[in-house]
Amino acid sequence: MQKKTFHLISLGCAKNTVDSNSIGNILTDTGYRFTPDPTEAEFLIVNTCGFIQAARDEAIETINGLASEKGKDQYLLAVGCMAEIFSQEIKKSCPMVDGILGTRSIFNILTLIETVQKQNSTVRPAATPIPASQFTRLGPSAYLKIADGCGRYCSFCSIPYIKGDWVSRPEAEIIADAVRLQDAGIKEINLIAQDTTAYGIDRGEKDALPGLIEKICEAAPHVPWIRVLYAFPGFVSDQLIDLLADHPRVLPYLDIPLQHAHPEMLKRMKRPSDVNWVRETIAKMRDRFPAFAIRSTFIAGFPNESEVEFQTLYDFLAEMKFDRVGVFPYSFERETDSARYGDTVPESVKEERVAQLMTLQQSISLEINQRFVGKDLDVLIEGTQDGLLFGRSYRDAPDIDGIVFVEGKAAVGTIVPVRIHTALEYDLIGKLLKKGEANTQRINFLSAL
Ligand code: SF4
Repeated sequence: MQKKTFHLISLGCAKNTVDSNSIGNILTDTGYRFTPDPTEAEFLIVNTCGFIQAARDEAIETINGLASEKGKDQYLLAVGCMAEIFSQEIKKSCPMVDGILGTRSIFNILTLIETVQKQNSTVRPAATPIPASQFTRLGPSAYLKIADGCGRYCSFCSIPYIKGDWVSRPEAEIIADAVRLQDAGIKEINLIAQDTTAYGIDRGEKDALPGLIEKICEAAPHVPWIRVLYAFPGFVSDQLIDLLADHPRVLPYLDIPLQHAHPEMLKRMKRPSDVNWVRETIAKMRDRFPAFAIRSTFIAGFPNESEVEFQTLYDFLAEMKFDRVGVFPYSFERETDSARYGDTVPESVKEERVAQLMTLQQSISLEINQRFVGKDLDVLIEGTQDGLLFGRSYRDAPDIDGIVFVEGKAAVGTIVPVRIHTALEYDLIGKLLKKGEANTQRINFLSAL
């Protein structure tokens, strides 16, 4: 073990990855060094996810995995979302943990380190100011956090209890981060928050997201792609749609988790239940840009989900033909409002419903992908696999969507035109085009569809 070293494992979503990056920066700025080898590190840190039971099980397993190899001079720290409201569970299941720090205090990592060194005990320091920079890089892309927390209290979700209410970052700090990412050569900035469309709501601002995006574009003119993730139904304004559809550097892509399509079910979920708004808004997006890429996520097996309600969801997916869909089985979380309904749908039924929806979506995804055969797409190259380049087009957010495999030679981090010749269920295969060969209708995205 070497003094003033740390090993950090980040679990959960992109927002957690950004927090992990900020913890890493705080530590390196004060003389600590990251090591990929846990046996070398003085501090073993796990940034946990506590969103659902499966995530908490993974966190316990990860912490105990490190604990089993932990030397007597090493400190094991559990931080993040699970540590915020399930610290007792961590203490019980992971007795080797030396320090716990919830997500709302996560940037007080140095206080925790000092305390465990002095006392070797579990503490929960008070919250400290949030760092001015909040982004994480993933090769040529980056996630940039614009806000944290959530005040919507959907009945199945523990995030508001874990993270607290919305806190939007000051515009100047976000813009400064975007400029830093531009200076570092980043080609794609993904804007994230629990709910990006709520940006500014805590300061009394209405529909502040489009203005923020425009300012980012202005301040960082050499970042070719800006992508918006995690929009909330009912809060996607016409201004936002115009920007996504028209701006040459804002991708015509939106991730809008809808969770269900039956109005009664949406009411039980405490979500907006106006499904017509969804239909009209998606029609508007496709009207403004026919190949607008829309991603959504859904929950199957929410308490008392009837056959009729499930069928409504199935028919809705068949009707809407989203480009990308994720479906998750309902996870019973005792601290959420939906716990009062119990967990009434058997796991086998939940799994069967997830499988039915995903099978349907597979055929829709293939059908949409086939429309791109013979078309040209700009692709951000991320690496090579089995002799092919691979990367993503405007239709693919990092980690969650498809991949475009590319025949030809190009450097990682470049955006190159590719003519698609093969459509798979989720991915595409194409050939790199020479300069001037691409037939692009809208710069940076795709040929006419
Ligand atoms: S919008 Fe709903 S599902 Fe999303 S983080 Fe907030 S409470 Fe959870």
